[in-house]
Amino acid sequence: MTIAIVGGGIAGLCFALNLHRRGIECRVFERVALVKELGVGITLLPHAMREFKALGIDAELEAQGIENLESCFYNRFGQLIYKEPRGRYAGYELPEVGIHRGRLHLTLYNAAVARLGADRIILDHRCTGVTQDADGVDVHFETANGARTMRADAVIACDGVNSAIRKQLYPQDEVAFAGINTWRGVTRHKPILTGRSYIRVGSIHTGKMVIYPIVHDVDGQGNQLINWMAEIQGDNLIKNDWNEAGKIEDFYHIYKDWTFDWLDVAAMIRNSEMVLEYPMVDKDPLDQWTFGRITLAGDAAHPMYPRGSNGSAQGAIDARTLADCLAKESSVPEALKAYEAARLGPTSKVVLTNRSNPPDFINIKVEELVGDKPFDDLDRYITQAELQKMSDDYKKIAGFALPTPG
Ligand SMILES: Cc1cc2nc3c(=O)[nH]c(=O)nc-3n(C[C@H](O)[C@H](O)[C@H](O)COP(=O)(O)OP(=O)(O)OC[C@H]3O[C@@H](n4cnc5c(N)ncnc54)[C@H](O)[C@@H]3O)c2cc1C
Repeated sequence: MTIAIVGGGIAGLCFALNLHRRGIECRVFERVALVKELGVGITLLPHAMREFKALGIDAELEAQGIENLESCFYNRFGQLIYKEPRGRYAGYELPEVGIHRGRLHLTLYNAAVARLGADRIILDHRCTGVTQDADGVDVHFETANGARTMRADAVIACDGVNSAIRKQLYPQDEVAFAGINTWRGVTRHKPILTGRSYIRVGSIHTGKMVIYPIVHDVDGQGNQLINWMAEIQGDNLIKNDWNEAGKIEDFYHIYKDWTFDWLDVAAMIRNSEMVLEYPMVDKDPLDQWTFGRITLAGDAAHPMYPRGSNGSAQGAIDARTLADCLAKESSVPEALKAYEAARLGPTSKVVLTNRSNPPDFINIKVEELVGDKPFDDLDRYITQAELQKMSDDYKKIAGFALPTPG
């Protein structure tokens, strides 16, 4: 059996590593010609780390990132609403890790090349479509040297939110934009709060900022590389273009007065090394991912708002589940159907919850109750137990509520 994996991102590479462990042959086809350390930060929750541990790369990832100690929620006046311990500090066997996205990707890529062989991770192959018959699938590519077609027993589309294969299966497929734009950057800064704190400030209605460290002592002077993401929702916002560099003047006005005694947010934005712009987009959950010998996984199957640090975990769980099904079921179409049956329901719930009740709903709720002003006594509006329940409810939907086994 040969499996063609289209897309060498988080899901595609996790899938290749999972298949390799089960002795199933595969090839990854990635459109970029060169793998580089791109992007900014990403947070790996304990259930993502569980998947990486099963692939034997958890220690390497932890060593390159920062283990989070706590998650903190503040209003836009810098007042603490709620905080809770995270990862091992909350009793999980595995940590929650903030890491540079490029380092995560390179770690997966290097592991795949080392274990499967460089000839199995094929770059410069942009998939343009698939055609299947009773015995297999032809996968069509554009490469620098022209068009090429490969034959496989199954094709797994791990080609991300703008998946070409999903578009072929669902020609009307489009991303859904509900008016939330984001800008991301990284700033060298002295450690904020504990130096291991994942911080959400404000709400998408009046301006939200997510802040967490991804590299310790980046300059030999004790500064950390701080990842930040600004988010704002508006009725008339034009969708940001994810291919463009971001411009500070497009969003700085929202944060210019955010100078708290524990952080000068405005200065952190001004001192950013780079700014990227993204639209916050997802897609409505599908009823079907598997069509004979073709299926979808990762963001190609269930792109979700990045509001719960959860997309990579879901892609990695897809990868393990699909590899298990292929190892167990007698026929490829049955394996792909069994995978869909196991994963479509749970991931659809996460997609919808990330729209309606993501973790930062804690900040939105407090802003609704208190109004857009500082509070004197938060307990008059909502208790810490109620806030904890909101956080715990999200963990259940996303699949990392305690006691998640490590
Ligand atoms: C702003 C932002 C912040 C996020 N933060 C977090 C976070 O903190 N924690 C978390 O867990 N998740 C986070 N996510 C989500 C996470 O990044 C995704 O869920 C994850 O990257 C999905 O992996 P994937 O492999 O499915 O897709 P991708 O990582 O997008 O990989 C797709 C791959 O397919 C390749 N490709 C595309 N088209 C083709 C083609 N036609 N032919 C061949 N190759 C192709 C691409 O080049 C790419 O390498 C965030 C997402 C965004 C946008």
